[in-house]
Amino acid sequence: MKLVDLNHQLQSIRSELQQAISQVLESGYFSEGSFVSTFETEFAQAVQSSHCVALNSGTSALHTILRSLDITSGDDVICPSNTCFATVEAICIAGATPVLVDCEAAYYNIDPDQIVKAITPQTKAIIAVHLYGQPAQMNKIKEIADRHQLQLIEDCAQAHLATFDGTMAGNFGIAGAFSFYPTKNLGAFGEGGAVVTNQVKLADRIRAFKNHGSYQKNLHEFIGHNYRMDSIQAAILSVKLKYLKEWTQVRKRNAELYFEFLSDLPEVTLPKIHPRASHVFHQFVIRTKDRELLKEHLTKSNIETAIHYPIPCHLQPALSYLGYKKGDFPVSEKLSNEILSLPVAEHQTSDNIKTISDSIRKFFRG
Ligand SMILES: *Cc1c(COP(=O)(O)O)cnc(C)c1O
Repeated sequence: MKLVDLNHQLQSIRSELQQAISQVLESGYFSEGSFVSTFETEFAQAVQSSHCVALNSGTSALHTILRSLDITSGDDVICPSNTCFATVEAICIAGATPVLVDCEAAYYNIDPDQIVKAITPQTKAIIAVHLYGQPAQMNKIKEIADRHQLQLIEDCAQAHLATFDGTMAGNFGIAGAFSFYPTKNLGAFGEGGAVVTNQVKLADRIRAFKNHGSYQKNLHEFIGHNYRMDSIQAAILSVKLKYLKEWTQVRKRNAELYFEFLSDLPEVTLPKIHPRASHVFHQFVIRTKDRELLKEHLTKSNIETAIHYPIPCHLQPALSYLGYKKGDFPVSEKLSNEILSLPVAEHQTSDNIKTISDSIRKFFRG
């Protein structure tokens, strides 16, 4: 049983996808154009944002937001250590300094109390990451950002359609970055990303940034980048977007089944859902002291698992210049030794979840 089975997704909607791809081939427009603008409109609507700018990755979405807010060298940006390396990397390539903080033991997301302690006179922004598909505590984080006049950016790469207090991820701060990497809840057949925002001026700036700093053909107002989305990816994403709600429901159903089958195992800590959050289970992450042996046991039973992430960002060699050391963020470090992501995606049937749960039970109970 695979964590992600893209072939299964392909088989289920193959004819629609083939039709969309051949429309792009016939059109002769391979970068941007109407396929991209159509997808932008549809995705903005799906996440209840006023504007969406499609880009070529989640990393470039984060970089574009930071640069479009004029965040660069001399500026500090706060983000969690327990995240995909790309979150931190985007801050670095913008020229700013990442200021890492620990996560909450309960929800694995950035700890609002630690954010407050990390604020310096140089702090310009906070990037809240909605890790594994569960929104960070956006009520508290938004209040901190407002009180200290900091830009609030959301990394929604794992949180398509997730909500907190009924508001969709991507709408709490100035902008939200999404990824459409193939294995995300909404994935292209290649790289893809997007920025959503409710501010028209920022949307225009982002549109110019991803197109060489150009608002108008042949006129370059500032140094931007080429971060444009391929038309083929946009056409594929438009098809898949129609199924995102349904696929998200299956992820939630699968998570509920794990809760049902595994909640009486004291050796396993199940994810905790914040009462005000709707978790979209990009990953279903359990914790156990016997992580390595359990992983081995499941692999032998042909059940694929993964670790997101085995090394917290503050201990990554690329960031050694920041001077962090082992022991700086004890919650993130402990998590990295205990977490294990189980198959939860939409291609997993109820029977599969039962089989996986039984195998975990067998490991602990024999
Ligand atoms: C995947 C991911 C990214 C990067 O997105 P890409 O499209 O791979 O560049 C950033 N942040 C988080 C939390 C992610 O999971």
